[in-house]
Amino acid sequence: MVRQPLTAFTLHDDTIVRVAPELARLTPLPAGVRVLTDGYQKDNIRCLYRPGKHVWIKREDLQFEPLGAPIPRAVCRTLQVGKDAYGEVVSIPMSQRLPFIVEQQIKPNRLVLKIFGAQADTDWAYQAPPDEREAKLIEDISWKQPDDHTYEIDVALKANRQWGYYLDYSDNTLNLHIKYAPTLVKGDKRLSGLKVCVDPGHGGNESGALGPSGINEATINLAIALEFKKELERLGATVYMTRERDVDVSLADRVKFAVDKKVDVLVSVHGNALPDGRDPMKEHGTSTYRYHPQSIELARFIKNAMVRDLNLPDLGERYQNLALCRPTAMPAVLAEVAFVVNPDEYSNMINPDWQAKAGKSLARGLADYFAPKPVETNQN
Ligand SMILES: [Zn+2]
Repeated sequence: MVRQPLTAFTLHDDTIVRVAPELARLTPLPAGVRVLTDGYQKDNIRCLYRPGKHVWIKREDLQFEPLGAPIPRAVCRTLQVGKDAYGEVVSIPMSQRLPFIVEQQIKPNRLVLKIFGAQADTDWAYQAPPDEREAKLIEDISWKQPDDHTYEIDVALKANRQWGYYLDYSDNTLNLHIKYAPTLVKGDKRLSGLKVCVDPGHGGNESGALGPSGINEATINLAIALEFKKELERLGATVYMTRERDVDVSLADRVKFAVDKKVDVLVSVHGNALPDGRDPMKEHGTSTYRYHPQSIELARFIKNAMVRDLNLPDLGERYQNLALCRPTAMPAVLAEVAFVVNPDEYSNMINPDWQAKAGKSLARGLADYFAPKPVETNQN
């Protein structure tokens, strides 16, 4: 017996796609993307991107189509490059919305977009316009069809850094938006023109880790984050805070806020803790977290500033799949300034002078990344 293929489409933007139920995430999908399904496990639906490549999507995120609907398939005939206020846009018109995965690579800088169910119809090659200003970001675009079901677009980028990207569909055209470098206003203050979202971790009912004398992490995070804001503004940056009081804000709302404000960078401020059974006298110090390759260098700059300015042990810039590190539209870093559960670090963290120092240090790390000071020549 041959079972009819069952197709479905995603019901909303930012649909979570996983390699297996509850395991690692792949590129999220916008609404209206059609997928071929071929199995399920409890409330997880197994989708076939291409033969040999399964992904999983929650049943509640999908709408099944009537039996006999055509399988997701489209032909790519052209590709357009345009630009808008955010950056340059690579647009791929198709006859329906197909699933995709984006992979970011640094050094060399490139974005690789794989569209599943797509097939190339004609040969084409992208060449940057002779006028440099026409394409500030894109060096070259090439494509290949590694198998019958995958259309792969490789966007090579000119700059030595990547500043953000996101994908969306307009009708059935898939758009890859690539962000311009932030425009810093020259001759003014050091960070004039830079838009920063500062996110004080936790708040409201989510009080975070509890310090030895009973002050919670949410309170400490807010105090340091407000000092961070003050210093960024002194340097000329425009700052958007996800909260300025002790209130609940969901992780999704924090990320949405940063994306909606179209900021150049997102920094989440936290205090660290340890799972039960580990010794905070032995494990303590400062660290930053990042998820996408574009945030690694910024995470290192901020961490290095804290190690230097706050004289804390260096726990590194670490990879972790955290909600506040997941947006792609801008570099996003989460700072674990110091350990709330270590008595020495905690006594610093509740001290207003030290909080100001920590806020300044975060700002310095960020400024060193976005607006490096020219090396001063030593004249004796
Ligand atoms: Zn926290």
